[in-house]
Amino acid sequence: MGWLFRKPKLVALTGVGALLTASHRPPHSAGDIHEHTWRIVAWYRDYGHDALVPQHTLNEFIKPLQGQLLPDAWSRGEALARAIWEEMNAPCWYDGSRGKPCVRVDISRDDELLYAQWPA
Ligand SMILES: [Zn+2]
Repeated sequence: MGWLFRKPKLVALTGVGALLTASHRPPHSAGDIHEHTWRIVAWYRDYGHDALVPQHTLNEFIKPLQGQLLPDAWSRGEALARAIWEEMNAPCWYDGSRGKPCVRVDISRDDELLYAQWPA
């Protein structure tokens, strides 16, 4: 029954962020294509390495999307968060020596107080 009294292991999370301004076709309506700015934060648990490395990966991922029309598959924040999470955990980047897996991606449209996470 020792587990009942074990203290939880507390670790820090490290977040790296970027802003993406692009347009999308509204996923759930017949509305016109329009633009948003999405705030993206990729989170790492107990990271212990240079956070500029994963931030560079994030910036490289969103660079070709800036000012563009997002693919329809990424028109929802949840789907975009998942795509970024997969990119941030891609084997070409995560080789075990440069950092740890990305544990979560948060995306928000702050002006509208709308949020998405992957995984939840
Ligand atoms: Zn929209």
